[in-house]
Amino acid sequence: MSRPRRPHRRRPRARRLRSRPARDGWSLEGLVSELLGRLDALLPPLPGDPPLGRLYRIVDAWAAERDAMWRRRSADAGLPIAPEPACATGCAHCCYQHVAVTGLEALTLADYVRGRWSAEEVAALRARLEGESARFRQIADDPKALARVRRPCPLLDEAGGRCRAYEARPVNCRRENSTDVEICRRYRADPEVEDSSLRLVRYDVIWGAARVALSRWTAGHLDPGSMMPLDVALASALGGVDAPAGRIRGDGGGSTDCDVES
Ligand code: SF4
Repeated sequence: MSRPRRPHRRRPRARRLRSRPARDGWSLEGLVSELLGRLDALLPPLPGDPPLGRLYRIVDAWAAERDAMWRRRSADAGLPIAPEPACATGCAHCCYQHVAVTGLEALTLADYVRGRWSAEEVAALRARLEGESARFRQIADDPKALARVRRPCPLLDEAGGRCRAYEARPVNCRRENSTDVEICRRYRADPEVEDSSLRLVRYDVIWGAARVALSRWTAGHLDPGSMMPLDVALASALGGVDAPAGRIRGDGGGSTDCDVES
């Protein structure tokens, strides 16, 4: 008897390279609590002016510490260290897909753009986002359509392959990595391809926890922590379209989101 065929998957996925660190202290809840404790200790409580400039510095520092800890513990346990990501300046295949962000992340991006871009550039971005938002609002409830998005992010410098808001990029962008550029290239070129990258599991663990921690930290204060397409949320944060109608159903993260495996 032939095996039943697996249902066709339309949600893009990131394959993961596994290395097995010592597991103690690496549960999702443990990591989330640790980062939440640091945010609570170092940042003023919400609501109020969100501490946009300092937020990612704290999260980045925590992620770097945890990354170093993962390597140390793997080495101490005699486990192989997984290879480094192949990501490099000028490589931007992952910037041609749908990105899901929270309202806080959109505010952080808007703050960054207003502070560093010229008035003309901000106006051009707003005009572009208005158009893109209309499209994303139509497909925000359709994971299949979101998964097929292959458009340059409005914050991407296409010629240089650089993010023009790199220091303020959302968590889903910080989490993105791949050890195989060819997988990324194929994903960008073909909307039907499902594997978006070959990711390191330690990045998914660390940045997955950061994703959850930031959503919880903002939930009930600044916004409900729900995810929206970047184009919709940033247009709203810059004073354009109304964001809530563009929320993604459930806690879906779009194509740069994936489940955390510990
Ligand atoms: S925000 Fe920056 S890093 Fe993220 S997809 Fe856009 S251009 Fe790329």
